[in-house]
Amino acid sequence: MRFVVATPLSIKEGADIIRKGGLVAFPTETVYGLGADALNPEASARIFKAKNRPEFDPLIVHIAGLSSLEKLCLSVDERAKRLINKFWPGPLTLVLPKSEIVPDIVTAGLPTVAIRMPAHPIALELIKEAGVPIAAPSANPFGYISPTTAWHVREQLGERVDLILDDGRCTVGVESTIIKLAEGAILLRPGGVTIEEIEEVIGRVEIPSNNLTKLEAPGQLQRHYSPMTPLKILGDKSSKIQSKIPRGKRVGLLAFTPPKADPSRQAYAMVEVLTPSGDLKEAALNLFSCLYRLDKAGLDIIHVEPLLEVGLGMAIMDRLKRAAGNCKL
Ligand code: AMP
Ligand code: MG
Repeated sequence: MRFVVATPLSIKEGADIIRKGGLVAFPTETVYGLGADALNPEASARIFKAKNRPEFDPLIVHIAGLSSLEKLCLSVDERAKRLINKFWPGPLTLVLPKSEIVPDIVTAGLPTVAIRMPAHPIALELIKEAGVPIAAPSANPFGYISPTTAWHVREQLGERVDLILDDGRCTVGVESTIIKLAEGAILLRPGGVTIEEIEEVIGRVEIPSNNLTKLEAPGQLQRHYSPMTPLKILGDKSSKIQSKIPRGKRVGLLAFTPPKADPSRQAYAMVEVLTPSGDLKEAALNLFSCLYRLDKAGLDIIHVEPLLEVGLGMAIMDRLKRAAGNCKL
């Protein structure tokens, strides 16, 4: 594995590795991705192995230009075109009918393919240089916290990657929103583009309940994005439960805003604040690195203050609920 700062030269090296069937971790605006040639089934299979990802869980294909979209999809309807105009490049993934050039391993045998054009200049340059679409899930072991810095990738995947391109912190911090455009539009995962913004462009989007029998995205797994340390979401502010720290336990707190004069917080061994200014964008940006630091601190439990599920709050709470798995306080 080589760990290098992303420069025109190292991006060329990365593109070369991709073309030869290797794995390159690279920055996107959402989280760091673990990329391989999306048209090469053996290369894409290496992603599953490196992440320990089950093969029923399809990958997102990243493109740098609209000409690739036509090759990868059978059809792109009016709604897709409107969403693409408004949000690409950016943190929105569209699930569309796939063409035959997309290998089955990439889509887990589904007749659809998930496609996104990232807004990060390094990601776009890497895809252009490689000359192929790049399949890339988040560059972390399956089910663990997503990486928002190259150092997270290095610590979590290390030698399982051929090259890590470092370009500092991601600017969105949560994964892309995934929308499936079938008869209706269905939200498969809340993410960097809010449901409110999407509905402004294409009208009502269906939000399926979590107990779907058929799993369409691992975002729908009950436990995902999880730290090793057990995580519990606290009751709302009015609830006394908030100050309940188990005796003799080292407990950390993931707080939305900085502690005011709140004595209950003083009992925490460690407090990470998502957004000093109370801004949801900043909270999303800090979410995984705060969780990462809490997880490294040798705590017994991580408590989380819930936030309102509107705008980006929906994606943040989705990740936190899944990080908590079935844990209930
Ligand atoms: P990750 O990049 O690891 O966050 O995962 C990529 C996401 O895209 C996963 O939630 C996949 O299940 C989802 N995805 C990829 N392809 C499809 C597809 N054809 N249909 C539904 N979801 C998909
Ligand atoms: Mg992931």
